[in-house]
Amino acid sequence: MYALRSGIYRHAMRIQYGHIRGWCIRCGATEFNLVKPAEELTLRSKLRCAACGALTLHREVTYRIGDEAVRQANDAIAQLKRRYKRQRERLARLREELPSVRLGERPAAGDRKQQVVER
Ligand SMILES: [Zn+2]
Repeated sequence: MYALRSGIYRHAMRIQYGHIRGWCIRCGATEFNLVKPAEELTLRSKLRCAACGALTLHREVTYRIGDEAVRQANDAIAQLKRRYKRQRERLARLREELPSVRLGERPAAGDRKQQVVER
């Protein structure tokens, strides 16, 4: 849920998109106050970090959230690719260790006959 709503914010607020919360670039705190509390919150609103007093714009906090979301998405994709590569390597090793077993393939009709004979 995005924190941008029309309204007046007299108390410290958090700016959050999805699971990512906006943070102060100077100290990392996640609560901000409007510099002009009587004004409506917009992307151009000036904010002051509630912890260290650093000034920023609502838009800058929002952009940082967007950058972090992209970074996390790229990390997740890279992790999936590594996992997929490991699984393919493991499958290739299995095929080398068990050359007579063809994973995912049905035995040919001749092989089935042979299995019946062996029993
Ligand atoms: Zn701060």
